[in-house]
Amino acid sequence: MSDRVALVTGASRGIGKAIAIELAKSGFKVLVNCKQNIDLARATADEICASGGRADVFQADVSKPAQVDAMCQYATKVFGFVDTIVNNAGISRYSLFTDETSQSYDEVMNVNLRGVFNVCKAFAPNMISNRFGRIINVSSMWGLVGASCEALYSASKAGVIGFTTALAKELGPSGITVNAVAPGVIKTDMLSGISEQTISSLVEETPIGRVGQPCDVAAAVRFLASKEAGFVTGEVINCSGGFVIK
Ligand code: NAD
Repeated sequence: MSDRVALVTGASRGIGKAIAIELAKSGFKVLVNCKQNIDLARATADEICASGGRADVFQADVSKPAQVDAMCQYATKVFGFVDTIVNNAGISRYSLFTDETSQSYDEVMNVNLRGVFNVCKAFAPNMISNRFGRIINVSSMWGLVGASCEALYSASKAGVIGFTTALAKELGPSGITVNAVAPGVIKTDMLSGISEQTISSLVEETPIGRVGQPCDVAAAVRFLASKEAGFVTGEVINCSGGFVIK
């Protein structure tokens, strides 16, 4: 096992779980973060440990700075220097813009954008001191092109991209790369509210001709986390099967 340590937020299921398992396969010790479902998060960690890896679980709401700071202290105590953070935790929201409220705005932004800020704010100082780090933010193809009835979600994910590119410039001199992945339609619980008919029409518009799987995104994250990706920063890897090509 290498001396690499990663935090993956929202890793009890879906894309985050796949990322945690993929990084563990690459030799990372992994802190599996969850907001609520500690049993599912424990199952992710157990799966990693059963394959000979090292993982632990920490319950924290990424939108709450005090909980994120406590997670940072715990991670450092248990694993030492956390050199990689994957800001995966996120919530979606499908609604007419005219039905959105200040409260729904806060709900989406507090998790999807403020959560990324909170985690970077807690973990980046140690990376700066150690002159090494990998920050990988999970955005969305809707952060690149916008989605109808997902104005808040699209804005939050576009914000993640702006934050990523700015931080890449600021933290590059400290040996830290900051990148994003922009998944397309990926088969997870997040799609549970979307009808099969809508998914089929999305697949029809996807040149690769299928729905994405969490492992498709995890592979891109594994690359960005690797030492070999040290000259890649401020980049957004589009994992949409060609649904979005800019
Ligand atoms: P998911 O709903 O299965 O997973 C989201 C995870 O984030 C869950 O484990 C959830 O508990 C966690 N989470 C939510 N709020 C949290 C908080 N405040 N603190 C900590 N954890 C929190 O969905 P997913 O598809 O695996 O989504 C993972 C990421 O990928 C999200 O950021 C999402 O926006 C992004 N994404 C997903 C798709 C897709 O089609 N599934 C496409 C583009 C981007």
